[in-house]
Amino acid sequence: MKKKINAKFVWISALAILLTGVGAMILFYNILKNEIFDDLQANARVIEALWTDEKPFAYSSRMGDDVIRITLIAADGTVIFDSHGDSGQMENHIQREEVLEALEKGEGRDMRKSATFSEHMFYYAMKLEDGNIMRISKASDSINQFVSYLIGMIFLICVAVFIICVMMGKHLTARLVAPIELLADNIVLVEEESLYEELRPFVSMIKQQHMDILEHAKIRQEFTANVSHELKTPLTAISGYAELIENGMTSGENTLHFAGEIHHSAERLQRLINDIIKLSELDSEDMKLEFETIDLYDLAAHCVEVMELPAQKHDVNIRLEGEHAKVSASRTLMEELVFNLCSNAIRYNKKEGSVVVTVKQEQDQVMLIVKDTGIGIPKEHQERIFERFYRVDKSRSKSTGGTGLGLAIVKHIVAQHNAQIFLESEENVGTEIRVVL
Ligand code: ADP
Repeated sequence: MKKKINAKFVWISALAILLTGVGAMILFYNILKNEIFDDLQANARVIEALWTDEKPFAYSSRMGDDVIRITLIAADGTVIFDSHGDSGQMENHIQREEVLEALEKGEGRDMRKSATFSEHMFYYAMKLEDGNIMRISKASDSINQFVSYLIGMIFLICVAVFIICVMMGKHLTARLVAPIELLADNIVLVEEESLYEELRPFVSMIKQQHMDILEHAKIRQEFTANVSHELKTPLTAISGYAELIENGMTSGENTLHFAGEIHHSAERLQRLINDIIKLSELDSEDMKLEFETIDLYDLAAHCVEVMELPAQKHDVNIRLEGEHAKVSASRTLMEELVFNLCSNAIRYNKKEGSVVVTVKQEQDQVMLIVKDTGIGIPKEHQERIFERFYRVDKSRSKSTGGTGLGLAIVKHIVAQHNAQIFLESEENVGTEIRVVL
């Protein structure tokens, strides 16, 4: 990244310097050229004012630096007078650029190699009142020298500016990249205030993701530890009782009791494994849900019917209220959700308590409410009961066949359906769980 930015800096500065250098040269050259023409024009005006028919000025024949040459040309191009040459010998000047222009517009300018002196010259021609053309010219040696001096100077300045640019570019790149290098070192420890404003949302997003990953890893690790622990208890019981029977250490009624314990633990294992499988299915991102339009009231009626027997066992009354309401959902998952909520409402109920399942439609929302008159959930536990293996009363959960995963599964199903879940509970009064679809 540093190298790329540096290379870009070098390229951009080289290009900028080159363009500025060339532009400055063209500009200076034009200014100088105009200056010389203006000078020639001023000279021409003075000479015109002082002109008499005799040779007005004596010039050395050498074309030197500041020496100007005066030529008087008739309207037909015949050279009448030339300060530096023999006018009689000189060819007709009618085709000279500046003469043609002066005849047409009153004045003309040109720059070229002189046919008479084979030197680069500046020519300025003006039409006089008598129709003749007065031409003033000057050798371009001085301007050429000045231009080559200018090129040299501009080149030196460009090189110096380029070196400064490269050095500053390097310094700037290092400063620019420093916060990013800091991030690469350890993104979590970097204080966002020390970063560019534009980088801050990016960094806080990565930090958040990083935290989420850590949190996820922690949850997974805890889950694995919990799973192993939960599986171990019934397995140890099964293995222990089976060993007793195997060693002939039990007899008659005892054997039956141990067999019953083994059966009970095996069922518990089965429930645990089933719930773990369900959770991992709900966890997997590529799980394909088959959504269909279902009547939630009919579905709840079926669940209530099935739950009547376990309810009777707990001496709890369960009933359904409300109205028919259609939702788009996965039938199996919805059944799972209603079963889990009803099962909890029965298992954590009091003797002769009741469970009311209500399905109702409110505007475009369908609600499923499971309300019980049970033991309730203390305030401090309410936030956590949707966590995996979190139980308020572990022994009650286990003795009633709970796995500690029921509400975690419910929470997942709710999320898969983009629904919402609300809990209201008061200790010793009861619990109401509301699912809004
Ligand atoms: P479990 O298999 O232990 O019932 P859940 O995930 O279904 O696990 O519930 C977690 C805990 O939340 C339960 O152990 C229980 O303490 C509490 N809980 C859930 N539903 C109710 C309820 N209707 N009344 C009282 N406590 C409840």
